[in-house]
Amino acid sequence: MSQLLLDDIKGPILVIAPHPDDETLGCGGLIAAATAAGKLVHTVFVTDGSSSHRNSPTWPADRIAQQRQHEAAAALAALGAGNQPRTFMALKDAAMPQPGAQGHADAVSSLATLVRNLKPDLVLVPWRRDPHCDHRDSWSLITHVLAQTAIASRVLEYTIWLDELGAPEDFPVPGEVTEFTFSDPEIVAVKRRAIAAHASQLGTLITDDPDGFHLTPATLDRLIRPVEIFWQA
Ligand SMILES: [Zn+2]
Repeated sequence: MSQLLLDDIKGPILVIAPHPDDETLGCGGLIAAATAAGKLVHTVFVTDGSSSHRNSPTWPADRIAQQRQHEAAAALAALGAGNQPRTFMALKDAAMPQPGAQGHADAVSSLATLVRNLKPDLVLVPWRRDPHCDHRDSWSLITHVLAQTAIASRVLEYTIWLDELGAPEDFPVPGEVTEFTFSDPEIVAVKRRAIAAHASQLGTLITDDPDGFHLTPATLDRLIRPVEIFWQA
């Protein structure tokens, strides 16, 4: 296990967040600290997050997508990254286009353009076997793009659902990854502030879908800790 130090990051950082909220839960501490240190951090929100409350009569998918975009912007502001660039790819939540589909080719192409322009030194992505289809598909998408652009970025993977929902085979096998930790005294406070911006995911804003998703206190406690953990494969 090694420490991840801001001084080791020599260029822009690209954050791949499958949904609005993954940026905060996965790497909000690093986004905040890197921003404070004057680094460029570009966050890509891959899906529109519209599937969190499929049965709400008052929050159709379009309204949720719009809300989640506002929440993402507010969360970045809470991380001190209100002026940092961000891209909303707005792919369909829980139904990202698969290889072979035109939508997939389009997503690869637009993300490749972004990567060529940004030339990130560090790319933060969901763990390749994080147990959520969009997290795995987002890993695949950026992996495809990095191979195509041949930009030698360091890639670090963060987990969101692995500890709660992962099957044994979803965890790294011995020797598969090197673990890096990022610690900063502000992480917990700043992530708490930022996750509060994602009101639609906290069970208080959208209350008319009994099957709607919400982040439980246990999940928040698990993901908001003084240290962030990243794996390099
Ligand atoms: Zn997610």
